[in-house]
Amino acid sequence: MSIRVTVWNEFRHEKSHKAVQEVYPDGIHNTIAKFLKAAGYEVGTATLDEPEHGLTDEVLANTDVLIWWGHMAHGEVKDEIVDKVQQRILNGMGLIVLHSAHFSKIFRRMMGTACSLKWREIGERNRLWVTAPGHPIVEGLGEYFEIPHTEMYGEFFDIPQPDELIFISWFQGGEVFRSGACWYRGRGKIFYFQPGHETFPIYYQKEVQQVLTNAVQWCAPVNVVGFREMMKAPHHPEPLEKVEIEA
Ligand code: ZN
Repeated sequence: MSIRVTVWNEFRHEKSHKAVQEVYPDGIHNTIAKFLKAAGYEVGTATLDEPEHGLTDEVLANTDVLIWWGHMAHGEVKDEIVDKVQQRILNGMGLIVLHSAHFSKIFRRMMGTACSLKWREIGERNRLWVTAPGHPIVEGLGEYFEIPHTEMYGEFFDIPQPDELIFISWFQGGEVFRSGACWYRGRGKIFYFQPGHETFPIYYQKEVQQVLTNAVQWCAPVNVVGFREMMKAPHHPEPLEKVEIEA
């Protein structure tokens, strides 16, 4: 059964910044959607300026994994949409959080920490070391891969200790960063992935595409059929049966 992915993008930089338009003429969301479709997933997109930010009940009801890219307008995302997305994650929907979406409302909600970090934008080299070689997210990669020019993200990254740490990055300027990390929240799985600054062609790079393709598979509900059934009706936990307790 094919996994249904929704790629959410703020989609503002691509409209207002020429340098970003040149790299992503169709928008970051469509660039990501394209390689995920080629990998065999069922992929839709949603953006901030659509009604309900494109995340209507119908769209959410048809999403197994949500990918989130945002940067300049995190504050414009409505809290009631964040509430709905959070609820779905707790019920099993996967969430992949990209780059500057470390400051998105949904990521901060799911983490419960500030999610702040250090950054510098001079296009330096980034080497991502694999710290979990047996993890499904790094399938097909070597010991490390490099992004030739990126924005540096450095520690301290104010996140809860990851349940699984997938990548540690080195940057040319000397900083390090937890570039790939996983958490479990309720039945849901969350993956944060640092690469993706909007003025560099990072989502065209094959290793980055490989990681995101793998991450969709990992983040998807374990029982996709059961998850979809459960999402059709509001979920109420059943009370436990009474048992006799011997004196
Ligand atoms: Zn950036």
